[in-house]
Amino acid sequence: MNLDLKNEIKKFFKGDVENSEETRDKYSRDASIFLIRPEVVVFPKDSEDLKQLVKWVAANKEKYPPLALTPRSAGTCMSGGAIGESIVVDFTRYMNKIEKIEQVTPYAITPKYVGSKEVLISGVAVVEPGCYYRDFEPGAIEKGLLLPCYTASKNLNALGGMVGNNSAGEKTLNYGNMEDYVKELQAIFADGREYTVKPLTKKELYAKIAQGDFEGEIYKNILKLINDNKEYINKAKPQVSKNSAGYYLWNVLANELNENPEHSEGSEKIFDLTKLIVGSQGTLCIVTKMTIHLVSTKPVSKLVVIFMKDITRLGELVDTILLHHPESLESYDDETMKLAIKFFPDFLKKKGPVGMINFMFSFLPEILKMKMFGIPKLTLLVEFAGQSEQEISEKVKRLVSDLKSFPYKIRVTNSKAESEKYWDIRRESFALLRKHVKDKHTAPFIEDIIVRPEFLPEFLPKLQMILKNYPITVTIAGHAGNGNFHIIPLMDFSSSVTPEIILEISDLVFSLVFEYKGSMAAEHNDGIIRSPFLLQMFGDKIYNLFVETKKIFDPQNILNPGKKVGATKDYLKEHIIKEAHDLSHKV
Ligand SMILES: Cc1cc2nc3c(=O)[nH]c(=O)nc-3n(C[C@H](O)[C@H](O)[C@H](O)COP(=O)(O)OP(=O)(O)OC[C@H]3O[C@@H](n4cnc5c(N)ncnc54)[C@H](O)[C@@H]3O)c2cc1C
Repeated sequence: MNLDLKNEIKKFFKGDVENSEETRDKYSRDASIFLIRPEVVVFPKDSEDLKQLVKWVAANKEKYPPLALTPRSAGTCMSGGAIGESIVVDFTRYMNKIEKIEQVTPYAITPKYVGSKEVLISGVAVVEPGCYYRDFEPGAIEKGLLLPCYTASKNLNALGGMVGNNSAGEKTLNYGNMEDYVKELQAIFADGREYTVKPLTKKELYAKIAQGDFEGEIYKNILKLINDNKEYINKAKPQVSKNSAGYYLWNVLANELNENPEHSEGSEKIFDLTKLIVGSQGTLCIVTKMTIHLVSTKPVSKLVVIFMKDITRLGELVDTILLHHPESLESYDDETMKLAIKFFPDFLKKKGPVGMINFMFSFLPEILKMKMFGIPKLTLLVEFAGQSEQEISEKVKRLVSDLKSFPYKIRVTNSKAESEKYWDIRRESFALLRKHVKDKHTAPFIEDIIVRPEFLPEFLPKLQMILKNYPITVTIAGHAGNGNFHIIPLMDFSSSVTPEIILEISDLVFSLVFEYKGSMAAEHNDGIIRSPFLLQMFGDKIYNLFVETKKIFDPQNILNPGKKVGATKDYLKEHIIKEAHDLSHKV
């Protein structure tokens, strides 16, 4: 591109603008399998910087068509959502402030429905997108509050990316994902102006539409798009407990809407555009501030560990466990356990000198058991949490009694330290793999599939049949309670056939997932890796509505192009990392 991007941007930008080889290398990777070098990386000081930047890109797009903006928070995206060819906008350097974290007064504690479950909203926080979750959590916990959709990458990721990807985690079974915790967003739209996006009453919605400006047109056109295609949109909602694929058109309009603006009374919030922005991976607008709901922490917890020597009765077991309403239901397989044993010194290092000894001793009974009975095919972690020891112990007792008909060994942990070792294996397995494997590389592409738990006994053997045909080692860990499994193969990226194999396995596995009405992306979103499959997942009609949605928000295609819509399998193949050297630039 014949344009001195750095110097042009510097003319109006207060923050940093960098295009050294080192910076471009660093930002050419996220936690996905892609490498895409940006032209320049910018670090905005505030939303004023961003407004100018968006306006400048919009004004120059026609003359310089490759110009575009890719928002990026901590860059841990596994689908390639946080990398782009033109301008990458990093929020973590300056736009990382916590404005407030506070409990709501007891009378203002409100119930919220996440699926059919009632969750009590006890707190609220206002944060900028570049705030790392690890910097946010201590302040919240100090006030007895928690953002319960935190991820397994909570020590690495930032809150902006959680909104961008509609993230979820081990507590999602009971509390839902990020879309359930967004109260209000500040966002810069493609016209370079900053807007507040929040749920609206009918009257407020028609007032927006009456503005007749860029913002008003978005509300008008999205409302029309949803109204004209209601039937299809409602049917398109994936029938699983969490989904991050596509644009969530089915969540925007709460009720039937009487089209006559005259009948616009009532305080009920009926139209919520935040539902479309969450999980849109920066393709519709750039989020500059988030107001989020928080829940109260629960002081007591206990873990029941179930060691399954085979998985034939997994579906039945999960169904039985879910009847007891655990706080979380997680799992990891034998390959993950083998890795944990192999990289045991890494776990020890994290514990510090005293913790190290306790941790080592806590594992001895496990190692003896594995020597006697072999490594369990799947380990399930069932956590109960609550206000008192008695409440939790009773729940645990009832579950253990119900599980007597299953032929699996069960362990109820006695202390937090004992529980931690199982959580460490579950949470750290992927990070360990990424760090350690030398000649091969973790390849997240079918890592986020989800089907309803009742299909697991039929689905999992079929999945294993597919994977068996390829010379790849896979680890499986995940959110068994949601039927969401993270399947991470190890692959050799110096081999020229790897991109073909990735596409072939994706085709087969996603087709199987769609057969069971599942989603290819429960929480890691579409990015470069899954966007080309959105047409197959949702069909022509809904995919075209996604294309229209993108056009309504971003008519010039300046916001994170190539994600969600307009993605191709060729682009995917061409940008997969190829050399051992490429593997070194990773978050
Ligand atoms: C070891 C490991 C474990 C993981 N475990 C989980 C897990 O348990 N659950 C889970 O959900 N994910 C998981 N992930 C994926 C990832 O960490 C999460 O999706 C995380 O929330 C992304 O946050 P981030 O700050 O790194 O976002 P980024 O990678 O920076 O961005 C993610 C997406 O959001 C968009 N975005 C970022 N900031 C903005 C903004 N200000 N405005 C608009 N769009 C924006 C980006 O364009 C991108 O498309 C894991 C990743 C790793 C490496």
